[in-house]
Amino acid sequence: MTHDPQLYPADRIVRAQKAAADAGLDALLVSPGPDLRYLTGYEAQPLERLTCLVAPAYSAPFLVVPLLERPAAEVSPAGALELEIIGWQETDDPYALVASRLPSGIRRIGLDNHMWAEKVLAFRDAFPGAEQALAGDALAGLRIRKSEAEVRALNEAATAIDAVHLSMGQWLRAGRTEREVGKDIADAIIGAGHATVDFVIVASGPNGASPHAEVSDRVIQPGDPVVVDIGGTMPSGYCSDSTRNYCVGEPPEEYLRAYGVLLAAQTAQTQSVVPGMTAEQLDAIGRDLIAGEGYGDYFIHRTGHGIGLDTHEEPYIVAGSQRVLEPGMAFSVEPGIYLPGKYGARIEDIVVCTETGGERLNVTSRELRILA
Ligand code: ZN
Ligand code: ZN
Repeated sequence: MTHDPQLYPADRIVRAQKAAADAGLDALLVSPGPDLRYLTGYEAQPLERLTCLVAPAYSAPFLVVPLLERPAAEVSPAGALELEIIGWQETDDPYALVASRLPSGIRRIGLDNHMWAEKVLAFRDAFPGAEQALAGDALAGLRIRKSEAEVRALNEAATAIDAVHLSMGQWLRAGRTEREVGKDIADAIIGAGHATVDFVIVASGPNGASPHAEVSDRVIQPGDPVVVDIGGTMPSGYCSDSTRNYCVGEPPEEYLRAYGVLLAAQTAQTQSVVPGMTAEQLDAIGRDLIAGEGYGDYFIHRTGHGIGLDTHEEPYIVAGSQRVLEPGMAFSVEPGIYLPGKYGARIEDIVVCTETGGERLNVTSRELRILA
């Protein structure tokens, strides 16, 4: 697979080693997942056998892989890095191998936040004197600000998911079940260029009042408002996530009023993004507007989440967060109003904070779309 050469630059491990030193970590241990891909470009399979990038704060990094995975690692972008790739045999203890290769006197080790517990415990035994900590504390600071190439990759992902929303009228109709519609949408997510489908929410009528309803066997009824929240991962590794709202037939009056409030709130929020504001200030812009119209008790989640190689990552746009927004940060703005037993609505765009403001990557109309 070809990659934008700027997407996974060669200096990331060095930057991670510096971040580890700054965080008081003697080494980072990174197993397969978005952190490993971010640092090396290697999309390794998460397996019971240990694959692990070892990045000591002050000595050369290396990648430990099962011998049978070494050819795949070598042809991945990791093979082009200045990184020793060490294969271990089925009869070796890979944890002891990692310990033997690290300088003595390791006191604090950062493990990637999603490492499997069985590996965490095996590393605890391999480094009995060392404290275990989260590598995320060091890595999030790197991943949170996207490079130009990363923004391009997020833009491609947004364009792909926008294309699926634009075609919704082909699949979303009264008389079909959410599950039937969801399957067509999943096929379209792949058809639009994603490598994987990460989630498909088709929440009709009262199901829309649950923010994370997925799909059910409920038959969509005439006049139902429907929340459609969909996303996938592109071959680049970067994720999409966008929510739009549809109504099959005439929408209820009360719903239209709530939708108008929500649209005003989400629009105000996306227009207000500016470097220097805090995450909680951005959250409050939508929350105060919704509360002022009497729907405060029905906006039951944070405004949004960062997005990149993970669908949910830093920064979280949530009350109480003093996180200052900076150019390069990418996150969702997705306020919602949920009326239990009736329906719900959520409008979601991915927004990138630029030097001067916020740029929406999802650009389909945010108006309620009435489908026949
Ligand atoms: Zn979403
Ligand atoms: Zn989201």
